[in-house]
Amino acid sequence: MRTFVYSSRQQRIVFGAGTVGQVRAEVELLGGSRVLVLAGPRGGDLAGRVADVLGPLVAERFDGAAMHTPVEVTERALAVLRESGADCLVAVGGGSTIGLAKALALRTDLPQVVLPTTYAGSEVTPVLGETADGRKVTRSSPAVLPETVVYDVELTTGLPVDISLTSAVNALAHVVEALYSPDANPVTDRLALDAIAGIAEALPRVVRDPVALEPRADLLQAAWLAGTCLGTVRMGLHHKLAHTLGGSFGLPHAETHTVLLPHTMAYNAPAAPDAFVRIARALGVPDAPTGVFDLVAGLGGPISLRAIGMAEGDLPKAAELAVAQPYPNPRELREDAIATLLTDAWHGRGPAAPQPSAADRLTQEVVASFGSTPDPRTRHLLTGLVEHLHRFVVEHDVTDAEWRYAIDFLTRTGQKCDDTRQEFILLSDTLGVSSMVDLLTNSRTEGTTPSAVLGPFYVDGPPVRAQGADIAHGMAGEPLWVDVRVTDQHDVPLPQAIVDVWQSNSDGFYDIQLPELDGPVLRARFATDDDGRLRFWTILPAAYPIPRDGPVGEMLDAAGRHPFRAPHVHFMIGAPDHTPLVTQLFPAGGDYLDSDTVFGVKPELVVDFTPRDGPPPDGRQVDRWSALHYTFRIAR
Ligand code: NAD
Repeated sequence: MRTFVYSSRQQRIVFGAGTVGQVRAEVELLGGSRVLVLAGPRGGDLAGRVADVLGPLVAERFDGAAMHTPVEVTERALAVLRESGADCLVAVGGGSTIGLAKALALRTDLPQVVLPTTYAGSEVTPVLGETADGRKVTRSSPAVLPETVVYDVELTTGLPVDISLTSAVNALAHVVEALYSPDANPVTDRLALDAIAGIAEALPRVVRDPVALEPRADLLQAAWLAGTCLGTVRMGLHHKLAHTLGGSFGLPHAETHTVLLPHTMAYNAPAAPDAFVRIARALGVPDAPTGVFDLVAGLGGPISLRAIGMAEGDLPKAAELAVAQPYPNPRELREDAIATLLTDAWHGRGPAAPQPSAADRLTQEVVASFGSTPDPRTRHLLTGLVEHLHRFVVEHDVTDAEWRYAIDFLTRTGQKCDDTRQEFILLSDTLGVSSMVDLLTNSRTEGTTPSAVLGPFYVDGPPVRAQGADIAHGMAGEPLWVDVRVTDQHDVPLPQAIVDVWQSNSDGFYDIQLPELDGPVLRARFATDDDGRLRFWTILPAAYPIPRDGPVGEMLDAAGRHPFRAPHVHFMIGAPDHTPLVTQLFPAGGDYLDSDTVFGVKPELVVDFTPRDGPPPDGRQVDRWSALHYTFRIAR
């Protein structure tokens, strides 16, 4: 059982495009009337937009925010703040600007409205890291958590692609570490997995089209979730290392996170296997650390500490600092292993791909054996079959006895087949595979009558009958007058279409199951007339059990499944230059429509077999009869 402590935080989040227009209302909601607008040196335009919305509420602007929140910058801003008499802080920019707002809030307790323009996540954490005398000191206090966050996607479209990429990986780092944090809980787990999938999906789209709003919105939303995790649970080695390299060696924040993340993940992966399986799944890759490295490298992001300004000679010191004080991390912190990690990251080497397991190696070997199959489709099907079968065996830990049973089952399935009994079709039907193949085929011919499985009772070359014939040959059952048409998709009638019909009798048996019958009954071949029309007499079909004296019956019994098919009449229709159609019509209200044992029922094929009284159309003398009217549409 899992134990955890979870504290939620009170904060107002406004998310959307153009939400900067709501900043004045948000300030007023907090009781603010004189605002100090904060931005970084490159954030002048954005601060201008915010100031325009605030109008007369602007008391002063300070555009000097700097990375890692140096205390001397905070002191300067504090002087401006005091001078201006501001009663509210509005910050627009990345983590650096928001850090300044937090530092001022810590000293003055003024409310903050922040508009993040990167994906760093600081806006939703109660954490502040300040640098004084070259040392970065981090503290956590509810006093620094901004009261209101206004996410405006439009403010992020100007964020340069390289910063967007590293900032998004910064967000990814928060959620990777959240999943193996000692404080992880169901809330942060869900947020983290959602954020990982969101970042992996949206980031390549943002890089491809940095000004498009939708990808930016998806990424910003994922960053909010990631920041929320950062503000809720403790982080591990990755954040410690990034913090050390940024604070003590002056490396840029988001770039450092980006270079380090695949390496810190590879370091921790063996100690948190479950978390890493989930991370890989959310990323959509087989291995999480190499997946992140490939994502960054593939999008042109930084992959080496050397390239972002780290001196090689500083690596041992960085490793020493990373283990100087204890903090939670899934894998034991070993200075030598961390030094190796940093050396790899310095050179830009990717983390080692995990060794394939013996099972994976076997699958690869078998797949490779089909590698030179000349026909590409055959190769594709064979290798796919091998991969799926192997995965099935591994995932279900199939035992030797179970596999021997499966082989015996298939052997007996084959032995049960002869000219009139097709146990393999029954097996395919009852496993729903026939219907799946049929479904795919059907979806390729839109606007036509849905097809349905052939079933095991079709006999090639049925007796040819004339229009109006009775194919029941006096067999007992309620007469059914069939009056159907065959057209193309555009309702143009198809004369001389060949229509094979077959069905069960009123006890549910096909003629080939009744050895006492002399010749084919309830099966025939017709041709449509000049109007594409076909009329004949038969009897109402009945529900029937599929043969259960073979391996398929054994399977149904073992599963507690009934063997019944819903009543139906089979049709096989062919016309020159048209796609053949094999289908079935089911009387509405019949038994087993919702549990047909071969999954053959489709709503469009359930039709009224309408009971009638009075004389039938051809004047035949019958007491009770039913009529079936239907139009089959087949594809050209
Ligand atoms: P940043 O704020 O320094 O911004 C990076 C660069 O992007 C800057 O040059 C900035 O001017 C530019 N920029 C930002 N938004 C822009 C936009 N919309 N258009 C054009 N340019 C834009 O970097 P960051 O990565 O967002 O934040 C890093 C800082 O935040 C570090 O000091 C870090 O320690 C801190 N941080 C703190 C927390 C926390 O919880 N306390 C969390 C994350 C980051």
